Amino acid sequence: MSSLLVDNIGELVTNVAGTGDGSPLGLRRDSAVLVEDGHVAWVGPARYAPAADRRIDAGGAAALPGFVDSHAHLVFAGDRAAEFAARMAGQPYTGGGIRTTVGATRAASDDTLRATVRRLVGEAMRQGTTTIEIKSGYGLTVADEARSLRIAAEASEETTFLGAHVVPAEYADRPDDYVGLVCGPMLAAAAPYARWVDVFCERGAFDADHARAILTVGQAAGLGVRLHANQLGPGPGVRLGVELGAASVDHCTHLDDADVSALADSTAPDGSGTATVATLLPGAEFSTRSPYPDARRLLDAGVTVALATDCNPGSSYTSSMPFCVALAVREMRMTPAEAVWAATAGGARALRRTDIGVLRPGARADLTILDAPSHLHLAYRPGVPLIHQVLHNGVPQCRS
Ligand SMILES: [Zn+2]
Repeated sequence: MSSLLVDNIGELVTNVAGTGDGSPLGLRRDSAVLVEDGHVAWVGPARYAPAADRRIDAGGAAALPGFVDSHAHLVFAGDRAAEFAARMAGQPYTGGGIRTTVGATRAASDDTLRATVRRLVGEAMRQGTTTIEIKSGYGLTVADEARSLRIAAEASEETTFLGAHVVPAEYADRPDDYVGLVCGPMLAAAAPYARWVDVFCERGAFDADHARAILTVGQAAGLGVRLHANQLGPGPGVRLGVELGAASVDHCTHLDDADVSALADSTAPDGSGTATVATLLPGAEFSTRSPYPDARRLLDAGVTVALATDCNPGSSYTSSMPFCVALAVREMRMTPAEAVWAATAGGARALRRTDIGVLRPGARADLTILDAPSHLHLAYRPGVPLIHQVLHNGVPQCRS
């Protein structure tokens, strides 16, 4: 078993609360991390670092857990740059463009879809992301949803069945029949490749009754629940998600007091944070020129908040977690520390994972070294490529 020492880390974000500086980030100065067999074996002061077979010198820079992007749609074909340009020229976002991508995705070969997933996972990795959730949702037939998830599962262990993304055109006048298809043969074909089930619960997509039906049968099939909720307007999604024990409700842009209370009251079994995480996706508001969710209100109510990219070809075609951190700080009133936590430990919570988003013995050795002395620079220097090196499962990836 070979060992690797990441040495001379000027500032280490561990996300082990109460250690280091005592903050939620668990900041340590002048540290080292020992990696063995793909996992963290030791974290401590550099001067006490044990010997190792190999060594990476961080040069006094900052390091943090790899970003955990808990919300992305990577299995698709084509792009919608023209739709983006039209929107920037004043047309509103309605979500209807999803059907454009559905047509292109159905027409694409497996190899085309696979190449897109690999390209985007690589792009995200070069920006510090070591875990990325991947949803289906651009196939919307039994065969196309199953193959989307099969291809997603080749690239990530966090895969989500989103057959209920939008009602496809051929079912436009009989949405109940489409929900029946999703709950029956489509779920059966998709479930072997999926860990999660998700529904786009929104006016114009799926209402609360449809969402409840789909999520309940998904749960019965062994899948965890997550939900697109309250993105385009107020609605029942957030409270439905909490009621069903969802790991995460995503977007949360339009919340009333009852939504915030429901989230705040969903206490996690271990008492640390809320059982249902509010995952905020500021890339979507950026790309649709919409008002941002109020992260400060959620945080002040005690809700656990995650940040993710929502990477998709329509409403948020970014794979960059640093960009989302910068937006969250500038536009959503999060502190840099809160945003960095939400993009790492928060994402792990949203995926109900304890082995990622944290650097402590036993955790997966997913670690990002910055070209910067502090995590503050992720928000302070927006748009600048600050990722120096990424370790995934303890293996150094190509430098950017
Ligand atoms: Zn989404």
